[in-house]
Amino acid sequence: MKILIVYAHPEPRSLNGSLRDRMVATLAAAGHEVLVSDLYAEGWKAALDGADFPAEPAGARLEVVAASHRAFAEGTQTADVAREQRRLLWADAVILQFPLWWFSMPAIMKGWVERVFAHGFAYGVGEHSDRRWGDRYGEGVFAGKRAMLVVTAGGWAEHYEERGINGPIDDLLFPIQHGILFYPGFSVMEPFVVYRADRMDAERFHDVTGELDRRLAGLFVEAPISFRPQNAGDYEIPSMRLKDGLERAGLQGLRLHRR
Ligand code: FAD
Repeated sequence: MKILIVYAHPEPRSLNGSLRDRMVATLAAAGHEVLVSDLYAEGWKAALDGADFPAEPAGARLEVVAASHRAFAEGTQTADVAREQRRLLWADAVILQFPLWWFSMPAIMKGWVERVFAHGFAYGVGEHSDRRWGDRYGEGVFAGKRAMLVVTAGGWAEHYEERGINGPIDDLLFPIQHGILFYPGFSVMEPFVVYRADRMDAERFHDVTGELDRRLAGLFVEAPISFRPQNAGDYEIPSMRLKDGLERAGLQGLRLHRR
């Protein structure tokens, strides 16, 4: 299979750099084709701005959604954005790898999403009417592909449990896993999170990479997170509120959006 790793860490000799190298080696040894988008090394431009739309008339007021739509539809996107879109379409699975910075992905990776997930490509796709909100949340350009987060965090696992002070990791990653990945159609695997990442030694690294290898072996085998598809009857139309009575014991908050 073909796997794209989108990697965001400024230091190749970091823990993240080691984990990335391990993933490439493990996946290649299993017979997969692997591509890495190394955002810092490639000098990725993080900010979405007027320079992304060179075909827009000079001096015109920038309407970002409309400009994104035109650039994608008319093939006037910048070369770096078009290349990343080709890589995404090529891949059977996409891994986003990053250190947790301020409870989210580093800004450079958020900028990769903002610029690459263009209107007409990753959003604004399909019928938009009073009855339908497009092909999203389970449908969309990436339907049939898998995605997984590989994240390192300084905090302890307990800090990210249900009653942990940082909030549950599933909730913190919801905007990425549900909003960024499931929205344009990916089947999202449970994340691989390394806690207390700043307290790593050779023995722990051995254990962590062993577990990472195991998760990679299950990338196309294990069941993805059971996020509810938008157009499968679980949400009221047109409010898109989850219908009453779908709660399961123990599930509340954002986890209600899992089946
Ligand atoms: P590194 O600093 O490169 O390494 C971590 C440890 O691993 C070091 O001890 C290093 O010696 C060791 N190591 C590296 N490679 C190997 C190897 N091959 N074998 C064995 N040991 C190795 N944490 C949170 O929990 N929540 C947050 O919101 C959060 N926000 C942050 C915001 C910022 C701006 C920053 C800078 C940090 C934040 N952190 C947060 C902490 C951050 O998540 C961790 O520092 C990061 O995940 C560690 O990953 P790294 O690749 O940078 O590690």
